[in-house]
Amino acid sequence: MNNGAIIAEQAVAQSAERTGNDHFLLTPGPLTTSLSVKQAMLKDWGSRDPAFIELNADIRRRLVAIAAASGGDDFVCVPVQGSGTFAIEATLGTLVPPDGKLLVLVNGAYGERMMKIMQRLGRKATALTYSEDATPNLGEVQSTLAGDPAISHVAAVHCETTSGILNPIEKIASLVNAEGRALIVDAMSSFGALPLDASALPCAAVVASSNKCLEGAPGMGYAIIRKDVLEGCAGNSPSLALDLYDQWRAMEANGQWRFTPPTHVMAAFHQALIEHDAEGSVPGRYRRYRQNCDVLIQGMEKLGFKPLLPEATQAPIIVTFHMPGDPRFDFKAFYDRLAARGYVIYPGKLTVAPSFRIGCIGQVMPDDIGHAMTAISEVLNEMGVVDCGPAIAGGVA
Ligand SMILES: *Cc1c(COP(=O)(O)O)cnc(C)c1O
Repeated sequence: MNNGAIIAEQAVAQSAERTGNDHFLLTPGPLTTSLSVKQAMLKDWGSRDPAFIELNADIRRRLVAIAAASGGDDFVCVPVQGSGTFAIEATLGTLVPPDGKLLVLVNGAYGERMMKIMQRLGRKATALTYSEDATPNLGEVQSTLAGDPAISHVAAVHCETTSGILNPIEKIASLVNAEGRALIVDAMSSFGALPLDASALPCAAVVASSNKCLEGAPGMGYAIIRKDVLEGCAGNSPSLALDLYDQWRAMEANGQWRFTPPTHVMAAFHQALIEHDAEGSVPGRYRRYRQNCDVLIQGMEKLGFKPLLPEATQAPIIVTFHMPGDPRFDFKAFYDRLAARGYVIYPGKLTVAPSFRIGCIGQVMPDDIGHAMTAISEVLNEMGVVDCGPAIAGGVA
């Protein structure tokens, strides 16, 4: 084994002490969690046990504090079993009434998914669709709202994980509010890492899950919703299990979930929230992910790869790189060789250009990303790849 491979192997071994893993998940999720988060799942909880009821209450309090640093009293956290998409579907179904209409700002797969959810729910929706490397045209959003009084709600994605683009959520919020509509934010891949104040934005709801930037185990979603908005949502949801109004009322009444709660996931999530706080809450987590992202982009650019996005719109969450044009570059071989070294990356989801993605989030340190760069350099050497630039100069048409 050469020097680089030895260093990479040592890095994985060191990380194993911290995470219990023999690999790093450099993906959009599920992500690398700490060993202590996983260890929190080693106990069974009774769902009616007062200690568990208090654990649930504390999770909900902590999530409101993260979502609405100012004006937290105006918001409630309603958790729901399942992945992030369950929480999105639950929120749209509960908040947008049968006679409402949703405008979705689409610049990637997660915006598209909200349109699909609305179709399934049989609710009215319209989309403004942009290229995956472009943020929404705010003038167009404004004129669409002004021209269509039937639109009652707007849904926007904070960080569109399809590309890693950061959408201008504060600007979107202020114009949605100026037009008197309610904003629903999909903050799945940014919540807990990128600053967002639901109260100051303001918005009606922020939706996220347990397993992304808060570094818990997957299995629980939640929405942080304005209390005065949720109070008016009785009977809106066409679903029994995904009715967040009913979930909220039931939880307020006895502190319990309506149906079997994901007890182990919640215990892990509670520990993850304690660790998030210990790292310095949102600013602390942002700092580490920012460093991860800087090491990643600088390292990849040094190897000749080209990121899809300019710095100004790149969120420090996940980075999309153009697929190299060099015929010796084969993504599957690249992926497999990196995975064998302990670094799991992610295929691209873009329609605009062939690409792949590397995540900056999860229980991963800047040094770990540095070692991943060493591993990538070695894999490229093994494959005989000399040029990592995209096939077409500039890539995106
Ligand atoms: C991950 C993610 C979701 C939800 O995905 P699940 O696979 O259902 O957890 C929704 N929106 C965004 C922006 C995401 O990154």
